[in-house]
Amino acid sequence: MIYFDNNATTSIDPAVLEVMLPFLKEEYGNPSSAYSFGKRVARALEHAREQVAALVGCEPSEILFTSCGTESDNTALQSALSIDQDRKHIITSKVEHSAIIKHAEALARRGYEVTWLDVDAKGMIDLSQLEAAIRPDTAIVSLMWANNETGVLFPIEEAAEICRKQQTIFHTDAVQAVGKIPINLRATSIQFLSLSGHKLHAPKGVGALYVNRRARFFPFLIGGGQEEKRRGGTENTASIVALGKAAGLAGAHIQEEDRFVRELRDTFEQQALERIPGVTVNGDRERRIPNTTNLSIEGIDSEAILMILDQQGVCCSAGSACTTGALEPSHVLRAMGLSNEQARASLRFSFGRTNTMEEVNRALQILTRAVKKLREMTPGVLAA
Ligand code: PLP
Repeated sequence: MIYFDNNATTSIDPAVLEVMLPFLKEEYGNPSSAYSFGKRVARALEHAREQVAALVGCEPSEILFTSCGTESDNTALQSALSIDQDRKHIITSKVEHSAIIKHAEALARRGYEVTWLDVDAKGMIDLSQLEAAIRPDTAIVSLMWANNETGVLFPIEEAAEICRKQQTIFHTDAVQAVGKIPINLRATSIQFLSLSGHKLHAPKGVGALYVNRRARFFPFLIGGGQEEKRRGGTENTASIVALGKAAGLAGAHIQEEDRFVRELRDTFEQQALERIPGVTVNGDRERRIPNTTNLSIEGIDSEAILMILDQQGVCCSAGSACTTGALEPSHVLRAMGLSNEQARASLRFSFGRTNTMEEVNRALQILTRAVKKLREMTPGVLAA
């Protein structure tokens, strides 16, 4: 198998698995317990908190562990809405992950007003549109740091600064950015940041939310006093320890991983452009995370090519999703102005540190053959 879908999820790093196993076996104490068997686990959680804080440049006390990126996103929005209930306006963009979009849509149905910022053809927002959209009753601005489909990086530090000046809470969904680009929250005006373990070689079902120490906060899960009363529920101890280790590894290797993964991505992209006629790259090629390329391949139905690639052992993603039996073109690509047809002809390849150049070369051959085969079956389109 050639796994080029690291934005969907990543493999668990063997060193990460190793540190979490004791917490699934002998170290099963409850971190809230008063005896040392529990306190040992509590100490392991605090170490993990330090490791995650170090990766994003904040204080350990500003890290709150959650069950996933989606929960972190939901928590940030709900906190802002609970803190000041007179503010009923939310600003976000048209290209967010469904963890924000579906939530904002649900809030709109409950009487909140949502401003959806546009993106240009490269997938970039316009900060002057953001500035103009902020109102006295804006509860929160939520913008993703890196787009999961195109990899495009929004100017998040600048957006956060605009919000600070207008005294508006700013949240960023950094699920696809953390571990891929250097982040130093101490130097920014960001109040909330979401991250997720399974995008950085930790297991699925664990995430974190950065809550700036000066930000007012209201919990999403109300229950026991865990996480300094900020999230009720007994902690997922093994996965939190794993997330800490994964954060440590990501931080230690961020530069070399950037170089290595970028070379895989750039080689794949350049070769696809050269070998296959009718290929275009979607999104800003400069301002994006190093591991992602999103390609439109003229005349190709992404669902069809995905099946061929799957048969050949290549995993990647389509720019469309099958919902209720119909192919829905990607909302991200549509917001960038691509036609339904172009969006349905798109594939996302996302690379990771476990990939190799040999896999890139093999996948290119498989992709070139698959495109040729599909085009031969559909007369009138470009021959590969
Ligand atoms: N936000 C972005 C940008 C994502 O890519 C994802 C996952 O694909 C999420 C949020 C949701 O994260 P999780 O799967 O941990 O809930």
